[in-house]
Amino acid sequence: MYDTLIVGSGPAGMTAALYAARSNLKVGLIEQGAPGGQMNNTSDIENYPGYDLITGPELSMKMFEPLEKFNVEHLYGIVQKIEVDGDIRRVVTEDESYEAKTIILATGSKNRLLGAPGEETYNSRGVSYCAVCDGAFFRNQDLLVVGGGDSAVEEAVYLTQFANSVTIVHRRDQLRAQQILQNRAFNNEKVKFIWDSVVSEIKGNDMRVTSVDIQNVKTGEVTNHAFGGVFIYVGTFPLSQMVSELDITDQEGWVITDNEMKTSIPGVFAVGDVRQKHLRQITTAVGDGAIAGQGVYQYIIENN
Ligand code: FAD
Ligand code: NAP
Repeated sequence: MYDTLIVGSGPAGMTAALYAARSNLKVGLIEQGAPGGQMNNTSDIENYPGYDLITGPELSMKMFEPLEKFNVEHLYGIVQKIEVDGDIRRVVTEDESYEAKTIILATGSKNRLLGAPGEETYNSRGVSYCAVCDGAFFRNQDLLVVGGGDSAVEEAVYLTQFANSVTIVHRRDQLRAQQILQNRAFNNEKVKFIWDSVVSEIKGNDMRVTSVDIQNVKTGEVTNHAFGGVFIYVGTFPLSQMVSELDITDQEGWVITDNEMKTSIPGVFAVGDVRQKHLRQITTAVGDGAIAGQGVYQYIIENN
């Protein structure tokens, strides 16, 4: 029986593990992939205090290493379900079941699909959701980035080091991204914009993407543009399907907590991007993790 089982080893889960383990709790950290979560798909991080600039994979390792010292148990598994059975909280993976006094859900979020014709057909054949992973395969190409948030704008600028040009297509005439990221894009001569427009179809040959149909939402006009690759950044959705039966999420699946990261179920906490919250960042994930890591300690003291 673990004192706490943490699902997800992104910045939120790793910080929760650090705080709980430093309180001498028996901590299990369950992850389906490499530690670091979305940080592993992030090029340069410039808004994590203490570092002018650090790469996502580097910051992941810096958060991961101290966990060894405090005997956090690393468990591999794709968590399917979280069950509550009296005082026991159970985490069920495809082939294991683990029991704990408390659970911290730190499963984050995932890229949303665009839903345009051709997106699925050309996935990994010109359509990508990760500039850091795939950018280098698109040297000297003309690329399209879809979206107007932080991810689209930041990754568009990142892609200019490989691409001939990068066009951002956005459904409105104003970006949602932070001003500093917008300024970088506006000041980069390789970055172009198509405003008030959406992708209506991604087209290609037998091998890969060759062009994209883009519709102006104001005039309805559809034009075809040659692109060698399409990077899609139209937001994220929560990875909370494992708690869908617990009635702790809003309609979109974001987990509802109070300021102490407690859900409505005693002993079940949620942290980071999977929570219903306004600012999804590494700093806020880390803050949530610290609060919950300390919170499970308090919960165990009060309930045993
Ligand atoms: P995540 O990082 O998403 O980690 C969740 C972990 O849970 C993952 O490792 C996942 O594998 C695991 N998991 C999920 N489901 C399961 C399951 N069923 N079983 C087992 N494990 C599971 N923020 C910044 O502050 N600065 C930036 O510069 C920045 N750049 C970004 C760039 C991009 C392209 C993106 C997409 C995001 C960026 N962000 C940035 C946002 C930041 O990465 C997130 O806010 C942060 O990673 C959230 O941390 P988290 O721990 O809540 O979730
Ligand atoms: P986001 O902020 O939700 O932005 C999604 C963008 O896609 C919006 O511009 C939205 O348009 C557009 N969009 C949504 N659905 C669309 C559709 N069907 N067709 C066309 N466009 C569509 O998502 P994100 O940029 O991936 O960011 C996710 C989180 O990570 C945010 O909290 C962000 O702050 C964080 N992040 C931070 C950094 C950083 O700090 N450097 C970098 C990356 C990400 P509208 O604007 O019209 O809604």
